[in-house]
Amino acid sequence: LEEQLRKSDTLNVVGELAAGIAHEIRNPMTALKGFIQLLEGSVKEDFSMYFNIITSELKRIESIITEFLILSKPQAIQFEEKDVVKIMRDTIDLLNAQAIIANVQIELYIPETIPAIYCEPNQLKQVFINILKNAIEVMQDGGTIIVSIKSHEDHHVIISIKDQGSGIPEDKLKRLGEPFYTTKERGTGLGLMVSYKIIEEHCGAVEVESEVGEGTTFHLKLPVHQHHNN
Ligand code: ADP
Ligand code: MG
Repeated sequence: LEEQLRKSDTLNVVGELAAGIAHEIRNPMTALKGFIQLLEGSVKEDFSMYFNIITSELKRIESIITEFLILSKPQAIQFEEKDVVKIMRDTIDLLNAQAIIANVQIELYIPETIPAIYCEPNQLKQVFINILKNAIEVMQDGGTIIVSIKSHEDHHVIISIKDQGSGIPEDKLKRLGEPFYTTKERGTGLGLMVSYKIIEEHCGAVEVESEVGEGTTFHLKLPVHQHHNN
């Protein structure tokens, strides 16, 4: 338990601040949403274009807050031995509808038996979601995402997520994981920051390989056993 508490400690540094801000923003947001709906129902003129913009901007604020809140649920953080393959399968199931709409196929390749790893399953799932979502979003003409999970002799599991998207120019690679770094019109630039933080909390590492016009591969290296931080 002490180990668990200690691990969640570092997450809380970012988490507590994020949670505080997020909750402060959420309450007035609820009021805003309610009154805008009320207004929309009672104005006679057609302001639907303005209402659509207001609604979509409010949604955007909400998605930023939600991504922040992921880091701020200490009660949900529990490290345990878990099957990463199952976590990945669940994640792919979750994103399949979005993938199909984008004409993207997600293939899972597991050539060998993968040991259970010491991890926080919900947070790991969040990492898989963030990286897979980026992969789907970047494949504008559709294609295939290949997810492979391999086990390494030195007690590591390597999860690779390979897309056929636009790729990332070399000078931009080092900006990945920087808060608010985004190249998308509707992006938050928080997905990778959150993901890198979570992998770090697992004493793991992220490596990115990319070629412009070819695609990008994210390699997540995770230790199988419990590691002692600090
Ligand atoms: P967002 O998706 O909201 O932009 P992220 O933190 O998830 O924020 O990603 C940050 C940026 O990293 C993206 O805007 C994009 O420029 C780049 N990126 C992330 N994943 C990929 C990928 N698979 N292929 C190309 N670029 C990527
Ligand atoms: Mg993203």
